[in-house]
Amino acid sequence: MNYPVFLRLAKKKVLVIGAGDVAERKIQALLASDAEILLLAKKINKNIQNLIDNKQIIYLGQDFKEEFIDDVFFIISATDDREFNQKISQIAEKKAKFCNCVDDLDNSSLILGANLNRGKLQIAVSSSGISPVFARIIRDKLELFLPNYLENCLDILAKYREKIKNKFNNIQIRRLFFEKMLENAKFHYLVENNLLKEAEELLATEIKNNNENGKKFGEVVLVGAGPGNPDLLTIKALRAIKSADVVLTDALVSKEILEIVRRDAKIIFVGKRAGNHFVVQERINQLMVEYAQEGNKVVRLKGGDPFIFGRGGEECEFLRENNIPFSIIPGITAAIGISANTLIPLTHRNYSQNLFFLTAQTETNQINWKNIAEINQTIVFYMGKNQAENIQNQLIKYGKSAKTPCAIISNGTLSNEKVIMTNLDNLAKEAKTAARPALIIIGEVVKIREKLRQ
Ligand code: SAH
Repeated sequence: MNYPVFLRLAKKKVLVIGAGDVAERKIQALLASDAEILLLAKKINKNIQNLIDNKQIIYLGQDFKEEFIDDVFFIISATDDREFNQKISQIAEKKAKFCNCVDDLDNSSLILGANLNRGKLQIAVSSSGISPVFARIIRDKLELFLPNYLENCLDILAKYREKIKNKFNNIQIRRLFFEKMLENAKFHYLVENNLLKEAEELLATEIKNNNENGKKFGEVVLVGAGPGNPDLLTIKALRAIKSADVVLTDALVSKEILEIVRRDAKIIFVGKRAGNHFVVQERINQLMVEYAQEGNKVVRLKGGDPFIFGRGGEECEFLRENNIPFSIIPGITAAIGISANTLIPLTHRNYSQNLFFLTAQTETNQINWKNIAEINQTIVFYMGKNQAENIQNQLIKYGKSAKTPCAIISNGTLSNEKVIMTNLDNLAKEAKTAARPALIIIGEVVKIREKLRQ
């Protein structure tokens, strides 16, 4: 097993051998750590030549001499010459210096990682020299989980380092504090939006308000889980789900997405289905508040987008009244996910300039049927299956052609997605056969699907 370290190289000498493209990448990284670079090379590429000309690195010439190694901290050899590498690594070994020969594990006592930087936060991934490409792929994957603004989070935390250390002198409690601070949605929101002063104030308040026994602070994140397919989650949603202590989930959220939840987190099903409320809204509100007050990070997971027919607004009002910090992560709403998946554009220059997202579930007489029955617009009905007959009758009554194309999409974006293509005249009849959840799209745009599928 290798021992991972980070080297503080400011003003320390490093010998680089070779001056091609590979050496250039190493030199750039060394310059970023303020190392003093001594270069030995026969052929020098243009960029490195520029660095020599600008006196950013020191060129020692072409020929290797043993004494070059004496006052450097380590050596990077970026040549293809294995024999030379072997010689260098033996001399280095003898003189107790580290040596990295690029792509030559046998002659390397120092392995360079695939690096990921967020300001002072640095991550280096190593495959122990077996496959640098593999390490780079893992690094790229990690990159997705680490937003750029973490750099600023760390800078703010650095300012309060001493204060935090003094207040929470037990390391376990300090850890808890940092953990909760880094999961605090409001702190993230402020830093992400460059409201650094406010973020600092929040940190200062949290330090003050948290007692040394490490009382945790809870919060609620309303997360849009999209229409079902886990690939349609946002990266932010993925991150929130992975860090949740408690997940309150709707019935619409797919099994695949719930599998992302941490094993030690608690999942509570509060699914509501039209007319069959498993857990009434008041109880959901209470649960969110209770778990957050206990110090948990609560993720309220909702199908699609929380603010589209998802009662997200009401839940936020309740959280606000109860002084629970909350934030919203948007999701791809059913209409948008389904539109892409079924090749039904929701607007089109020739067929539809207006778009309505409606729910048929509320009292239908609230809908301005005359308005939506106009030509050249697309109507999307959420929760429309049971109301299909009424939708059909009202639209025809207000002048919509009975031939208007309609699509009823069940389990949109999931592997069992089913699309029924019909027209307004047959909407009610076809809707009866559709599985739940189902979305209804009405308008000339529906017929474009046939064209795009060919
Ligand atoms: N907030 C959700 C909507 C919740 S209302 C969103 O933004 O998508 C529930 C209705 O959404 C269902 O009755 C159905 O009409 C629609 N719906 C949600 N997911 C769906 C899916 N995968 N396939 C078809 N319809 C879906």
